[in-house]
Amino acid sequence: MKKFILILTVISLLLPSCTASDPVDTADTSKSDGTTASTDTVAEDTDVQTQDAAMESETDDEITEPETDDETTELETDDEITEPETEKPWEVPEAEYLTDISKYEKYIDPEDRDAYLILVNHNNRIDRNYVPDDLVDVVDTTEWRSTLQMRLYAAKALEAFLKEARAAGCKNVTAASCYRSYDRQEHIFNRYVDDKMKEDPSLTREEAEAIIHMDTAFPGESEHQTGLACDVENFNQTFGDTFEGKWLAKNAWKFGFILRFPEDKEEITKIVYEPWHFRYVGIYHASRMVDLDMCLEEYIEYLNN
Ligand code: ZN
Repeated sequence: MKKFILILTVISLLLPSCTASDPVDTADTSKSDGTTASTDTVAEDTDVQTQDAAMESETDDEITEPETDDETTELETDDEITEPETEKPWEVPEAEYLTDISKYEKYIDPEDRDAYLILVNHNNRIDRNYVPDDLVDVVDTTEWRSTLQMRLYAAKALEAFLKEARAAGCKNVTAASCYRSYDRQEHIFNRYVDDKMKEDPSLTREEAEAIIHMDTAFPGESEHQTGLACDVENFNQTFGDTFEGKWLAKNAWKFGFILRFPEDKEEITKIVYEPWHFRYVGIYHASRMVDLDMCLEEYIEYLNN
């Protein structure tokens, strides 16, 4: 099994800045609740402890199971049998495609499978100087945007994903927001804070920021800065009920993408359901996450243990 590269609480600077156009998109920055990052951490820790306790108690049950009057040698044999089996290596399931994806295969299943597992969220901020060094233009940029960018592998895999989506009958599924720089997010956040303070002049800046942070990510908290995330057109939760929304969510893994903020994982991601936001991780991890029914936070934790 390959080594697991662990996540970058601090991603220090990779290369020079790019000239990405920075589309204004704040639709996916809302949190499912108003809790602070520190509260989130406590909540997650509690979950982990609970799981650990459950696992321990299961183990205890096995140990304390009433034994028959077997001889010592037989007990030893039993112990050997009940030893945890080593986990089988994950095999990517066979995927069927409507279109010819042969030229995209190497992007969908990158040679370095663990290279795209970066976790960015309220507890894992990305460095303000981080700019991916392999940003390329996204082919399927929404017409009313200037050209968007993503990291090379993500952009190519997305191209195949959207091509296939159209072949399957999806309409209006182009990229509406991809890479966003730290500065761009900071600009958006500050503009909201300024507006809030104009609306209520009695607020201090700190108070206004706290209010805005309930719905809008601080700069550095959005994975759009990684160049691996893409919002497809239609920033509306009802998108998840449409043919397009369902098709994309169901088939994303075949192209190395995950639906990053599923409806049933809001408590863990701390982000409300976003049927439009897809995140590239490569087909190996994407298919495994689907199989395990885990969001990225859960999956990273799983890999760490
Ligand atoms: Zn997004």
